[in-house]
Amino acid sequence: MNLALEDALCNRLARIRALGAARIRPVGLEADRAGAPLPPDHPFFAELVRLGLGRTRWLGGEDPDDAGPTTTEARRERSERDEETRGERGSPSFTGVVLAEELAYWDRGVAVAFPGPGLGEPPILAMGTPEQKQRFLGPFRAPDRPRWGSFAMTEPGAGSDVAAIRTACRRDGADWVLDGDKSFAANASRADWIVVFATCDPALGRAGHRAFVVERGTPGLGDFRIERKMGLEAYESTSFTLRGCRVPAANLLGGEERQSGRAGFKGAMQSFNATRPMIGAMAVGIGRAALDETLAFARSHDRLGDPRVRDRLERSRRKLQAARLLCWRAAWLADQQRPNVLEASMAKAVAPQAAFEAAALGMELLGEEGGRGDHLIEKLFRDVKAMDIVEGTGQIQRVLMARQLVGLPRD
Ligand SMILES: Cc1cc2nc3c(=O)[nH]c(=O)nc-3n(C[C@H](O)[C@H](O)[C@H](O)COP(=O)(O)OP(=O)(O)OC[C@H]3O[C@@H](n4cnc5c(N)ncnc54)[C@H](O)[C@@H]3O)c2cc1C
Repeated sequence: MNLALEDALCNRLARIRALGAARIRPVGLEADRAGAPLPPDHPFFAELVRLGLGRTRWLGGEDPDDAGPTTTEARRERSERDEETRGERGSPSFTGVVLAEELAYWDRGVAVAFPGPGLGEPPILAMGTPEQKQRFLGPFRAPDRPRWGSFAMTEPGAGSDVAAIRTACRRDGADWVLDGDKSFAANASRADWIVVFATCDPALGRAGHRAFVVERGTPGLGDFRIERKMGLEAYESTSFTLRGCRVPAANLLGGEERQSGRAGFKGAMQSFNATRPMIGAMAVGIGRAALDETLAFARSHDRLGDPRVRDRLERSRRKLQAARLLCWRAAWLADQQRPNVLEASMAKAVAPQAAFEAAALGMELLGEEGGRGDHLIEKLFRDVKAMDIVEGTGQIQRVLMARQLVGLPRD
């Protein structure tokens, strides 16, 4: 594993840093003060699209009908993008975690609010047919406007225990009909489509799981309600319902052929193995921001002469650095197409904890100043908690790793 970052990646990091200081952190603070997500028509999102952000990682080319760009302008755009993502082709997961950490450093809520296919992308990449990738990710290759995708697994009665989902799907002629309730899906009400996990028979357990792409405006998809959150205000976490919601069979991810065994469940797990290191990396970003804030405070308040303060700051930096390496390794294994289940769980279990400790240390050292409610450290402290919860709680990761250690199956 090569730990040196390529020049192209360093350039992208530098661009995020500049955007982070000028725009990402300010709009994150704006949303936090308003206590509401940035609206879809916020000028910042259009600005991101103009900057060439909000795109899919999918580079196209798998569809036999896709002859590539036809106009000179589109060919130039494709060639620029190919140049930009040249390094990424071989290491999309590694590139993803490095950039995600930097985005979260500036504001993790804003990073999730960014237009793009979001958490809906990994299951489409893992399970989708070439035609489905083209249809659902194609519009994200050079979007004409801010577009979002969403991922809905969690239900009021099924969070950690993914196998317990009760959203029902049944085949009816050329369609599938979906009924159920989903909660906490990022960007769901503004999304062009939502990847919805459902079961065709709860008695079949995970073998009954299917994933569908439900498009905006589909009759029966509705009752969107943005949930209250303690932090990460910039993006919406939304509950919604599916009532007799008819989805064409062509929107069943992977098509009928792929549905033997536990393909739907395995697809979800595969996408978690890609996204858990990413969540870990974002936690490291929040932790780094907290540590920088705490260091600045300690320096400006003459606290660095105290060896106990120095020791605690150093310990925090060391833990964040170790957590980052776990995230990098898990992502690197994914890029090598090698199993990373254990490493993805380790990254997800360790990084949010190290980040939480960094934010808690900041709150402690800043004391009254931090507790007043208008200091960045207090916002980071509220933001960081969710990192332990999303994509499988830290506790669940520890359960999985302990089972693996003693040779038991994961489920
Ligand atoms: C900010 C935020 C964003 C989110 N975004 C999305 C999204 O975009 N899409 C989506 O589908 N979901 C999303 N979620 C939901 C998230 O995935 C769930 O909250 C998470 O899986 C935990 O489920 P739960 O909240 O129902 O907690 P529970 O599953 O009810 O767990 C409660 C507690 O019990 C522990 N626990 C549960 N089972 C066990 C066990 N077997 N052994 C030991 N301990 C156990 C857990 O670790 C936890 O501490 C989001 C959540 C948050 C907070």
